Amino acid sequence: MLLEGCWLCGSEETETCTECTGVYCTVHRQIHKYDKKCSPIRVRVDDEKGKCLIATRDIKPLEVILKESPILVSPYTKTKPLCLGCYRKVDLSFCCQNCGFPLCNDKCGLQSYHTAECKIIANSSWRPSIKNTDSIESDYAVILLLRCLHMKEENTAFFNLFSSFYSHRELRRVENPELWKFHQENSVNVLRNLIPTSQLSLYKCSDENLHEILGLMYTNSVNLEVPPGYGEVTGFYPTYANLNHSCLANTKSVVRPDSTIEVRAQIKISAGEEILTQYVGGEKPTRIRRDILR
Ligand SMILES: [Zn+2]
Ligand SMILES: [Zn+2]
Ligand SMILES: [Zn+2]
Ligand SMILES: [Zn+2]
Repeated sequence: MLLEGCWLCGSEETETCTECTGVYCTVHRQIHKYDKKCSPIRVRVDDEKGKCLIATRDIKPLEVILKESPILVSPYTKTKPLCLGCYRKVDLSFCCQNCGFPLCNDKCGLQSYHTAECKIIANSSWRPSIKNTDSIESDYAVILLLRCLHMKEENTAFFNLFSSFYSHRELRRVENPELWKFHQENSVNVLRNLIPTSQLSLYKCSDENLHEILGLMYTNSVNLEVPPGYGEVTGFYPTYANLNHSCLANTKSVVRPDSTIEVRAQIKISAGEEILTQYVGGEKPTRIRRDILR
């Protein structure tokens, strides 16, 4: 079944593209157009397979069919110390004056993702206590949730789209009880320390909802391409998250150093055909890695 409204989210409040007759909502117009071209794809919801992307017209080999930036970027919940502004590994010699997390310098503290979480932490009595540059520091585990909740507040349309994916929450609880426990203690419980319960219930954030958010990010995000000396960072790409993978893929995907993801046709793809991708280099979304590890 094709989505009725917007090509990406199905919203009914749409405009029609004058160039390709594609239909989009005001939020997702931006992703439909890249380099002044129209993206020749749209979402299809399949009863069995869930969401997938299909071609809206014939696509030539080597044509770029999607280029987008992540709408959310965060370190993993389990990470060695890194700067929350630029994600460089840190030597712990400089910490943010407001929230106490290590940074490279004051300038890195002004990066927009950090300013939002910084304010919440600064207003609480909780402070990180990060001691070793070379071990997993559990104080970072709350950052992903803080960033997701900030998106929920600031960009509801994108948050709703993010929530429409599979989180595999229950499967994750059973398959990896240790990680679940780690998240309960270091992500969920710490967040409850930082944000008053009354406010969290306003956001409809029960413990289960919070584990759901963690699962959504783990299942659907992609590792960013970072230079040596940087920590591991993950990003959520709202269109790309719909792509299914296959060894017989008709496209190839690559994450650029500027963190945009680019999907390029490998062979001719006919209108109506499903877009399938293959990941190059080390770039594999965690959901793929999970399948490999299983
Ligand atoms: Zn939309
Ligand atoms: Zn168009
Ligand atoms: Zn930095
Ligand atoms: Zn800070």
